[in-house]
Amino acid sequence: MCTHDNMDLDQKTVLCDKKANGKTQPWKEKKLANIGYFELLEILHFKKAERVSGCGEILEFDITYEGRMKLANAWFCKSPLCPMCNWRKTMKRSLQTKNVVEEVIRQKPKARWLFLTLTVKNVFDGETLDKSLKVMAQGFNRLMKYKKVSQNMIGFMRSTEVTVNKKDGSYNQHMHVLLCVESKYFRDSENYLAQKDWTSLWQKAMKLDYVPVVHIEAVKNKKRNKEKEFTAIQAAVQETAKYSVKDSDYLTGNLENDLEVVKDLEEGLYRKRMISYGGLLKEVHKQLNLDDIEDGDLVRVDDADSDVEEKAYSIVAQWNWKAQNYFIG
Ligand SMILES: [Zn+2]
Repeated sequence: MCTHDNMDLDQKTVLCDKKANGKTQPWKEKKLANIGYFELLEILHFKKAERVSGCGEILEFDITYEGRMKLANAWFCKSPLCPMCNWRKTMKRSLQTKNVVEEVIRQKPKARWLFLTLTVKNVFDGETLDKSLKVMAQGFNRLMKYKKVSQNMIGFMRSTEVTVNKKDGSYNQHMHVLLCVESKYFRDSENYLAQKDWTSLWQKAMKLDYVPVVHIEAVKNKKRNKEKEFTAIQAAVQETAKYSVKDSDYLTGNLENDLEVVKDLEEGLYRKRMISYGGLLKEVHKQLNLDDIEDGDLVRVDDADSDVEEKAYSIVAQWNWKAQNYFIG
């Protein structure tokens, strides 16, 4: 248990959720960011503001006989910009993708991995962002169906990210794709696709009248050291599993700016699937019986939560709006 900031509020103890690796879970920071987001929604008269304010307000933890804390029950709002939910989603995405990739490697040990980044021109408002994200999802499906791509494709994981350009207030929407391909992809020019090939295929799939920025790299180390290669794949998984938006983009403290960005991103991200699997990665996701990566449970999201340790007792932590912290009791 932590002792660094345990203060008493009417004899109550501040929540401290420390993982086995010594890392303290940032509940307080995430709840404060969630409140910052809620306040913007309230000013913008979003109906869901009230729901967002209740996100993670009460946390029920199981304490195991080994003295470990595991979140057992909580309600999360699942709003696409909620910092609390996105922290949980990122952990869930990382764990699920790690498990999926490990199993794909087991089934297809000779497969090779690529990391692809697809971009289009920045946009300036929510309506255009909404359209652009729809068109990109269609363009991506088209790209995956081209023979030059599909002939060696085993599977993929794709995630869409939107970042804010602080200089001109524009939005950059791009896709990170972890691709798993047959090893013959690298064999000859019939199979191999260089960066310029990926660029022209993406331009064609998106019907663009300009040359888009596309980046492709092999995820590997030169000596084909299996262990090192696995570490490189894990790093690419982490990059792909990152959540779609950063709250530092809309919780800057500049109210006018933050309101505009939240309004645009709410419109742009509305009902979008920001992450998806394809091919063998999709099949393995099903085989492993993992729940929906976007809409599933946000309570059990990391490795430490999934193992079986018997519960000794439970505690409940509640957010105290006045003291701005979680207290147990
Ligand atoms: Zn939330």
